[in-house]
Amino acid sequence: MAELGRIVTEIVEELRPAVERGRVADYIPPLARVDPQKFGIAVIDASGAAHLAGDAEEAFSIQSLSKVFGLTLALNLEGSEIWRRVRQEPSGSAFNSIVQLESEQGIPRNPFINAGAIVIADILVSRWGRYAARQALLDLVSPLVGTPGGLGIDEDMAMQERETGFRNAALANYMRTFGNLHNPVDDTLDLYFHQCALTMSCRQLAEIGGFLMNGGTDPRSGRVVTSVSNARTIMALMMMCGHYDGSGAFAIRVGLPGKSGVGGGILAIAPGLASIAVWSPGLNAQGNSLLGTLALERLVQKTGWSVFNAFPLSVQKPG
Ligand code: GLU
Repeated sequence: MAELGRIVTEIVEELRPAVERGRVADYIPPLARVDPQKFGIAVIDASGAAHLAGDAEEAFSIQSLSKVFGLTLALNLEGSEIWRRVRQEPSGSAFNSIVQLESEQGIPRNPFINAGAIVIADILVSRWGRYAARQALLDLVSPLVGTPGGLGIDEDMAMQERETGFRNAALANYMRTFGNLHNPVDDTLDLYFHQCALTMSCRQLAEIGGFLMNGGTDPRSGRVVTSVSNARTIMALMMMCGHYDGSGAFAIRVGLPGKSGVGGGILAIAPGLASIAVWSPGLNAQGNSLLGTLALERLVQKTGWSVFNAFPLSVQKPG
């Protein structure tokens, strides 16, 4: 769609001057010092064409977006076995909440809240150990990227995550008391903090998301990244749980499976049509990119890509 280039440029031109941009995450210095004016969007369409605008080629910290890739690996390894240790339901509470864990015996609501992602990291550490698991994540995503540079793990970020990650340590220790963490807490958290410290650009993120757009298969190489049914599961979870306790509003406003991170990135998938990445570091009250969400809302208004647009012909108004 040649028009897509114009659409993404229009969105960036319209939203870039916005004054209300939310608050940049400031719990660690490498996130706090990111320029709040940054704003990028990348759309990879089904033909593989990239439509970019703004700071689409600048690397940023993907943070919780990495939970999508951890989940993909865990599903590839253990399939539906993983649902014994983490559930598939929206949480309705903050991303790092501990309260639900007590009443639900240490089984997190879903793989996209921190507790759930820590269980997923634990599954990967059981299989590979903490260092090789980190490499396995990189090996999953790196071949999906068509453009060089930017992709890597920011060691300083990972270290600072560890030094301040008391809440994540509490979640991990708490789950261990229920037997839902099988490795030493430090090993599992080491992987979790390193995956959060993955950096990449909107363009690279959208390229990686191509396998979800395309039912589990990398559209560029034809390589199967995960099964069709895993891809469907991952996208369903993104729709229900990808924006923490802002997931319902995101589903209504945007209508696409999406996953956000506190670095200000969002990956959204229009199945069969496009893989979309946006980045603006300022966050709304639920910890999701404020301008990024707005950009996706605009994109869907202009393209009609909401998955809820596919009404049967009988209820469509003529003309
Ligand atoms: N590193 C963050 C944490 O675990 C990730 C949270 C997020 O991106 O939502 O607290």
